[in-house]
Amino acid sequence: MEQPKHGTNADFLGRYATAAGTGVIHHLQQLAEPLKGARVIHVNSTREGGGVAEILQKLLPLKQALGMDARWEVISGSPAFYECTKSFHNALQGTQTSITDSLLETYRQTNADTAERLRPVLEEADFVFIHDPQPAALLAHLPTRRGKWIWRCHIDASRPYRPVWKYLKKWVTPYDASIFSLPEFAQPLPHPQYIIAPSIDPLSEKNRDLPAAEVDNIYERFGLDPDLPIILQVSRYDRFKDPVGVIRAFKLAARLTPMQLVLAGGEATDDPEGAAVLHEVRQAAGDDPRIHVLLLPSDAHRAINALQRAATIVVQKSLREGFGLTVTEGMWKGKPVIGGDTGGIRLQVFDQYTGFLVRTPEGAALRIRYLLQRRRLLEEMGQRAKRFVAENFLITRHLREYLTLQLSLQQTAQQRMMVGH
Ligand code: UDP
Repeated sequence: MEQPKHGTNADFLGRYATAAGTGVIHHLQQLAEPLKGARVIHVNSTREGGGVAEILQKLLPLKQALGMDARWEVISGSPAFYECTKSFHNALQGTQTSITDSLLETYRQTNADTAERLRPVLEEADFVFIHDPQPAALLAHLPTRRGKWIWRCHIDASRPYRPVWKYLKKWVTPYDASIFSLPEFAQPLPHPQYIIAPSIDPLSEKNRDLPAAEVDNIYERFGLDPDLPIILQVSRYDRFKDPVGVIRAFKLAARLTPMQLVLAGGEATDDPEGAAVLHEVRQAAGDDPRIHVLLLPSDAHRAINALQRAATIVVQKSLREGFGLTVTEGMWKGKPVIGGDTGGIRLQVFDQYTGFLVRTPEGAALRIRYLLQRRRLLEEMGQRAKRFVAENFLITRHLREYLTLQLSLQQTAQQRMMVGH
């Protein structure tokens, strides 16, 4: 996790003032004043790979720099645990899934064991943010906790597979609040629900400006042709990201227009299906020399940054998407995004304005060719995309919403104490 290593917290925050404006940082400092010293714990299921880890790596140092005692803990378990939680993930995104009692028991037991391991910190914490279903059952094992517990769902839960949601709801119901990325993801729950969209960190290795030479270097490094447009999708190898659909779109579009495709992915330690999907992708790519399927290490942030900058068009043809940080990242680099017409992508890609929303490989192919033939429009869309991210999806806005939520929960707790509940 990036820490405010060099110099003071003020220096660290000062760097964000340069990116987001001094007023924004002052506002954050004011909001954080009543939260100084608050013990805040975030729990998820992996330190690397996927959007949640990406966000926590950046959010935690900022919360610390604002004076909170913020920590990040991880729940981990056996392959059976990840099999179960991946099924939860798929079911929340609508896939009919049957999960055996034995897997559910592994899930419950892993949460019980983790609750025991973390009991001292979790029971005393003022705020606990539980990310996604993997650690959701921790709260039920800590009946004497004193702080506020918030379930943060990053998944497109708009149309969950009901039997699995019914099971998960049992663990989520006792929380003090929950957070979803979009209003349509919210579910009937007996506590306040907040809508907070995720964000990117403009200063991170993934998103900061890079020297031109570093961007140029990726052609040689990954065997790309510097004279051909690059169509890029960065994603875990997951069926909901539809990498095989992207290959179909590419093959259709490339029949008439010269271009190359880069699929850049890695493995998240909490995703047991990655290897099978990667195999499907390699099969679909065949021996087409224009298709580059990359398997990158989880810390390849600068390489992904360079690929996004070198790309002509960024694609994120997901079939379901909680938010899609890869969309935000591409837009931040001034690229139009051709995205699946679903979930969080709709929040970012405004059809015809910051990119195109598509539903099929054919639609994606059409839009790829359309943009490659209109370079001026492509540039304009990319610039609008960048501005849209600057105004809506930077980490400073995200942090402000987290602080406001914490303040509101803290105030409710104080009012309760005053009236003697
Ligand atoms: N990512 C990465 N390496 C990869 C694939 C993805 O670092 O090989 C990053 C990507 O840049 C983004 C995050 O992982 O920051 C993925 O977040 P997103 O919201 O797009 O999807 P999720 O994986 O959370 O479903």
